[in-house]
Amino acid sequence: DNTHLTPLRQPEDVDAALRPKTLAEFVGQAGAKENLRVFIESARSRREAMDHVLFYGPPGLGKTTLAQIVARELGVGFRATSGPVIAKAGDLAALLTNLDEGDVLFIDEIHRLNPVVEEILYPAMEDRTLDLIIGEGPAARSVQVPLPAFTLVGATTRQGLLTTPLRDRFGIPVRLNFYTIPELESVVTRGAGLLGLSIAPEGAREIARRARGTPRVAGRLLRRVRDFAHVAGNGTVTWEVADDALTRLEVDALGLDAMDRRYLTMIADIYKGGPVGVETLAAGLSEPRDTVEEVIEPYLIQLGLVARTARGRCLNDRAWQHLGLIPPSGSQT
Ligand code: ADP
Repeated sequence: DNTHLTPLRQPEDVDAALRPKTLAEFVGQAGAKENLRVFIESARSRREAMDHVLFYGPPGLGKTTLAQIVARELGVGFRATSGPVIAKAGDLAALLTNLDEGDVLFIDEIHRLNPVVEEILYPAMEDRTLDLIIGEGPAARSVQVPLPAFTLVGATTRQGLLTTPLRDRFGIPVRLNFYTIPELESVVTRGAGLLGLSIAPEGAREIARRARGTPRVAGRLLRRVRDFAHVAGNGTVTWEVADDALTRLEVDALGLDAMDRRYLTMIADIYKGGPVGVETLAAGLSEPRDTVEEVIEPYLIQLGLVARTARGRCLNDRAWQHLGLIPPSGSQT
């Protein structure tokens, strides 16, 4: 399964071991942390529930981790669920009525809530009430059930995927960005410490450089490199061990994995550098369109390899260079 190192969901226990528990331990995202610190402080001193928070950004950047940290630093309970899991309005009603005063309710992939369920959320977020319809037909009547004060923390890969009424109800929208190499180096060094692994600074830096700007990928690569260090070396992750392991894992110098390169190569070989529509690319890669747009493309765009244009995706010069190919003459790059 080496081909897919992109930051898709991991089984919970794998991520959990490396998860920072406090804001101070959480590396990077300085702006987001500073804001959160103020809101947490203020909610604590007023002894009120904190305003609702929306974390948005590519997978693996720390949205779930921050949600847990917010609850911990507020000193309140943490309940987690996800948009696609809440099938019926009653499921959400049960979750909401079981919250304790001040709790954090975390809804991952909140853009995938069923519209009927989403309707229940509006008054719950705004007025802390649950609007229920009891009975059917002419006997039906609506009752309002008060809810405990709670903080909803939503996570989504793109803010634009939310409906406007839902987005407007989050007082604290927080955007997470890809991490810098020095930040990822801290993540790797910290992770090595937690795993009891000896690592040279050059080894940590090489993993950081090739981690796709994403702590989840950094953690995953670190675990894979650790296996190589035990088999091939004396157990220490030197630069050589890291470079050799990552190359075997088909993670290249820019941190692109096999899927990223298939994406780029497809645009280069079949579509002469583009423009080509995302649906066409998704079909060619046999990946869902969402995965292409939310997992594969953001990092390639951040690196300046690919441009999203109105007519479709195009390769930039840097992508041709990286692939070692010559752009067709008359191409637009
Ligand atoms: P998301 O919810 O955005 O997909 P997670 O919060 O699940 O991402 O984070 C994925 C993994 O990356 C977890 O193992 C977490 O411990 C690690 N991680 C994320 N952000 C950081 C950070 N700032 N510092 C250290 N580790 C992090």
